[in-house]
Amino acid sequence: LIARMHGFGATIFGEMSALATRTGAVNLGQGFPDTDGPAAVLAAAQDAIGAGHNQYPPARGLPQLREAIAAHQGRFYDLTIDPQEQVLVTVGATEAIACAVLALCEPGDEVVTFEPYYDSYAATIALAGAVRRTSVLRFPDFAIDEESLRAAFSDKTRLVLLNTPHNPTGKVFTSAELELIAGLAREHDAIVVTDEVYEHLTFDGTRHVPMATLPGMFDRTLTISSGGKTFATTGWKVGWLTGPADLVTACATVKQFVTYAAGGPFQAGIAHGLGLPDDVFTGLAATMQHGRDILTGGLRDAGLSVTSPQGTYFAIADVASLGATDAVEFCWQLPELCGVVGVPVSVFCDDKDAARTLVRFAFCKRPEVLTEAATRLAALG
Ligand code: PMP
Ligand code: GLN
Repeated sequence: LIARMHGFGATIFGEMSALATRTGAVNLGQGFPDTDGPAAVLAAAQDAIGAGHNQYPPARGLPQLREAIAAHQGRFYDLTIDPQEQVLVTVGATEAIACAVLALCEPGDEVVTFEPYYDSYAATIALAGAVRRTSVLRFPDFAIDEESLRAAFSDKTRLVLLNTPHNPTGKVFTSAELELIAGLAREHDAIVVTDEVYEHLTFDGTRHVPMATLPGMFDRTLTISSGGKTFATTGWKVGWLTGPADLVTACATVKQFVTYAAGGPFQAGIAHGLGLPDDVFTGLAATMQHGRDILTGGLRDAGLSVTSPQGTYFAIADVASLGATDAVEFCWQLPELCGVVGVPVSVFCDDKDAARTLVRFAFCKRPEVLTEAATRLAALG
């Protein structure tokens, strides 16, 4: 293995799901729903298989999906996207992130990102031979520290890798925060790659603001999303990126030699999903918000300090009040202690001290599963 990938062993998500399987614990570690999404989405993929659409789709994605992605951005964000030139369908958001970083960074270029960060960011930046520069978001409110964000930028900054709504904190960046980031990107002539896979999973009336909608930002922004989160089809791995034609073409150039194309029938399913009425999208968010309330309510009743996330399907609890001093150790013991799996937040951080006793729990599960998990965790207190 090449030196720059040393230290990236096994992903925490695979390890924690294996731990849950091995111990029979309730898996609130890796984020994936335990119920299917809209039946019409599933049926559309099955129909495509039945109709014989089982060979390579076009490398940039099925025309009907690219059109649906463009129409979705128009409907929800008032953005005008050309489905021919400004959309690339990828194998999940993960491939979109990798293609963007590999297509746009020369070795030695710097990428500014917040920590805790989604794990693939660090690995793809390393794969590109680029350098990660981070600014810490601190528990419990995860506000931007403007001074450290400014300090992360330099004359070598090539990309800002943003994620809103943010995994693992559940933070939804405000317009004012996005303006600050946009201003720094413009000042340093950087491109913003923004991972918005949880765009439809926001709560309590919080509105997701895409970076690409800020004045003057479309031309320097690549927006990434995924059908997996919106339609509870994480196993389908259909994602996409949108943005100005030159940046999208750069990513498409890389993508054709990584996977060439993503699974055709699954693309047909997601294309159908993106055209469903607004209430389908709000309904999915409302269900998730209910899950959040069950889990965070249970943890709070157990005396834990826990966030009330405005987006995603993750909440963060501080397990220091349970006497834990290191969440990594704590999470490995948790199945034995009470039959639950969570993820230690420090694995998403360079500054381990910023998250030493924090654990991320996923609430994209059925109400009875969350109630059971909360009861088990409460018994620890
Ligand atoms: N970005 C973030 C922030 C995520 O949470 C995830 C999924 N956990 C991904 C990207 C990857 O999405 P996909 O499964 O579509 O590759
Ligand atoms: N996005 C999911 C999470 O954060 C996991 C994705 C993965 O397993 N790579 O839990």
